Amino acid sequence: KPDLAQNLLGLFGRKKEQPVVHAVNDVSLSIAKGEVIGLVGESGCGKSTLGRMVAGLIKPSSGSIRYQGQDTATLRGKARLDYILGTQMIFQDPQASLNPKQRLHQILGEALKVHKLVPNAEITDRIDTALAEVGLEKDYRNRFPHQISGGQRQRIGIARALMVQPSFLVCDEPVAALDVSIQAQVINLFMDLRDRHGFTYLFISHDLGVVRHISDRVAIMYLGRIVEIASTSDIFNRVAHPYTQALLAEMPDVQRQKRIFTPIKGEIPSPLNPPSGCTFHPRCPHATALCKEVAPALQEIGPGHQAACHLLSDGRTSLDPQA
Ligand code: SF4
Ligand code: MG
Repeated sequence: KPDLAQNLLGLFGRKKEQPVVHAVNDVSLSIAKGEVIGLVGESGCGKSTLGRMVAGLIKPSSGSIRYQGQDTATLRGKARLDYILGTQMIFQDPQASLNPKQRLHQILGEALKVHKLVPNAEITDRIDTALAEVGLEKDYRNRFPHQISGGQRQRIGIARALMVQPSFLVCDEPVAALDVSIQAQVINLFMDLRDRHGFTYLFISHDLGVVRHISDRVAIMYLGRIVEIASTSDIFNRVAHPYTQALLAEMPDVQRQKRIFTPIKGEIPSPLNPPSGCTFHPRCPHATALCKEVAPALQEIGPGHQAACHLLSDGRTSLDPQA
């Protein structure tokens, strides 16, 4: 629950008068080592804030982030550095996160130098290894960010994360700025890296199609809360929550098979003044009087499958007539 208004600058673009907003509320999520979790929702739903909290870039105002069993707020010295370096973030816009005045070897070597992680003589070797890992030739070292393509810039963003030998990557919309043809290549790279290194991923996207092939589980977020979480196959085959259905309705291939989901109507409400009860009720085709009054709890509706919707509370496990 970040209540520092400045954390929300990015989310809401407000510069003055910062009201207190809880961009993330009551979220409980555990991620096993080597697991890939897709975190999906519309922009403004709090998924980037959650990702930044997990990576240690912002602090929750209450609750805790635990890393390898330890509350990260209590970590000091080397233990804190292990967490900060072990958890690397990859951002949507590699252009914005790469200093245009630095050559790629400076960008890639920076964290190693700042934290004095290896002798300077070894940095070049590490850079060459990281470039090879992301499928770029050694001679990219001397280029500037503007001398490479958007897809190559994202490869450099990934190589920079790899330089400090992380085990957990928080990827925030890592392919959203790329052409569709390049997106698949970068997703394949993430999958190769997982196979090679056993990385754990929190993979954030507004697009279920992007997380479908890489995620073991998918968590769906709406207005700061997780409304459904299940294995990727259950999300696609036994969808429970009306909001998840609406997201599926935006996927042409799913819609072609099922033809049952109605696309979502309206805009995501402002988290400054969230709707009462189930915050999805103004957009939900199934909303009842109860939905306007009472917020549904996230509950188990099947093995490893949780959803927060009143319609699912009487033992129903799906609103999908074909499930
Ligand atoms: Fe829709 Fe009610 Fe379920 Fe919310 S609780 S998703 S409004 S049916
Ligand atoms: Mg975002």
